[in-house]
Amino acid sequence: MDPNKRIVDALRSSGYKATPQRVAIAQTVLRSKNHPSAETIHEEVLRLHPTVSLSTVYNTLHILREMNFLNELTFNGTTRYDPNISLHINMICLHCGKIIDVEEPSLEESINKIAERKGFKITGQRVDIYGVCKPCQKHENSVGL
Ligand SMILES: [Zn+2]
Ligand SMILES: [Zn+2]
Repeated sequence: MDPNKRIVDALRSSGYKATPQRVAIAQTVLRSKNHPSAETIHEEVLRLHPTVSLSTVYNTLHILREMNFLNELTFNGTTRYDPNISLHINMICLHCGKIIDVEEPSLEESINKIAERKGFKITGQRVDIYGVCKPCQKHENSVGL
């Protein structure tokens, strides 16, 4: 299905107006691969819609979160948005803020088994691991020398 239409339909069926600004914000975040912040999304949408405000961006992200189109990742006082809502690991570098997605089928299997054992119905997930990414480790080492 046309991704645009999917967003418009979802907004309307949840009782929201599918304004061109909202659709542009949704498109920007949903095709993002780098877990952007609201500010980053705002900067990008401003190129197409120079009058869009940061609060419209926050508002739209909140709606998308409610509709289960994305996950909110809050850490170190910042919030980043993840359009990948399937089970995966977010490896978060506390040095540069980069978030690396890791798909791990064996993890999904384990979690499903645990949920089954506990009779638990999973409706969402978030697996975060914090640390320092490879390039940042190199950088730290060279600074240390
Ligand atoms: Zn890093
Ligand atoms: Zn992710």
